[in-house]
Amino acid sequence: MDTQEAYEELGVDPSISDADLKATWRRLVAAWHPDRNPNAGADRRMQHINKAYQHICQLRDGGEDGSGNGADTPQSAAPEAPEDDSRRKTHTRKVRLSLEEAILGCTRTLRGSFTTTCNACAGNGQRVLAKACHTCHGSGAVRKAALFGWLWNEESCSDCGGDGRQRESCGICDGGGELTVAYRRRVRFPAGVREGHVLSVPTSRHGEMEIGLELEVEIEPHPIFTLGSDGQLRCEMPVNGYAWMAGRWVEVPTPNGLQQMRLNRDALAYRLSGQGFPTALRGPRGDYIVKIVPVFPAQDDPEQEALLTQLIASSSKATEADKTQPLGQWQRQLKRWHAKHNASAEND
Ligand SMILES: [Zn+2]
Ligand SMILES: [Zn+2]
Repeated sequence: MDTQEAYEELGVDPSISDADLKATWRRLVAAWHPDRNPNAGADRRMQHINKAYQHICQLRDGGEDGSGNGADTPQSAAPEAPEDDSRRKTHTRKVRLSLEEAILGCTRTLRGSFTTTCNACAGNGQRVLAKACHTCHGSGAVRKAALFGWLWNEESCSDCGGDGRQRESCGICDGGGELTVAYRRRVRFPAGVREGHVLSVPTSRHGEMEIGLELEVEIEPHPIFTLGSDGQLRCEMPVNGYAWMAGRWVEVPTPNGLQQMRLNRDALAYRLSGQGFPTALRGPRGDYIVKIVPVFPAQDDPEQEALLTQLIASSSKATEADKTQPLGQWQRQLKRWHAKHNASAEND
C-alpha cells in the first residue's frame, strides 16, 4: 500500500490534520468492525483501514518531529483546533421552567434528537475508494450510442462524477448523508435564571459526535406570582376586608409554599424580605411584595348591618371619649364651632 492509497483507503485528503485523521479512522473502525458490521467484507475492510492508518501515522511520526505519537491521546490535538469542530455540534433548544424552578434552581433531564450532516462523508453519503469505477473502468467517461449507433457520444460517468474512482455508500450514515443524534443530559439550572438566558452545557460524546447544548430559558407565566422587569417578585391577593380591619392572620403564597402573615389595617403592601427572586444568578434572594386588596360584601346582610351598628356605637364611645385621639379632638372642635355659629345666627 503506498501513501496515496492509504489516504484513499480512509477517504481523506493528505492535508488532513492528525486530529481529524484519527477521528476519521475511529469512525471507520466503528462502522466496519466485524462485531458490528454484518457485511461479508467487513473483516477485510477493517484490516485495510488499520493498515492505511498505521502507514500514515508512521509516515507522519517520522516526517514531522514525532509530535503526533500514536493513537490514544485525543488531547494531543489542541481543543481549539478548528478542524476538531467538525465532530463537535452545538444544538440549540429552548427549555421552559416554572417560575419556582427559576427562583429555587432545579435539575432537569433533557431528552431530544436532531439531524446533522454526516462528517464521515461530508454529507454526500458516499466514500471515494482507490479502486477504479466499475462503470467507466476508471476513465471517468462513458460512451453512448447516438444516431442509430453510427456515432458515439462521450459523456461524463454519472456513477463516479467523472473522476473514475469507485464510490461506496458511507457506512456511518448508511448513505443518507445525515445522522440523527439522540441525546439525554441531566442539566442543573442555577437559581436566578431568567427569561432569555442562554446556558451552555459542555460537550459530551454521543456515538460519533460530541454534542454541546445551548439552552435558551423560557419562564412559564405564573397564575399567582408576577416577576417585574425590575426583578421584583409580586403577588396581589384579595383578603376579607373585615379580617384586614381586625388585623387577622392570613395565608399568603410564597415560592416556598404557603406562609402565615398578619394583616395590618394601616397597610396594603407587605414586604417579605429574602423571599423573592434572586438578585443575581446564584445570588441571594430579593424581597417579595404582597399587595392586598381588602374586599367587603357588595351589600351587608341584616345580620352584618346589626353587627356594624353595634361596632360603630361601641367604638365611637371609646374614640370620642379620648380627647387625645383625632376623633375626640374633632368632635370637640365641631361642637365649639357649631355653638358659635348658632349664637351669631341668633344675633342677626
Ligand atoms: Zn456518511
Ligand atoms: Zn465512472
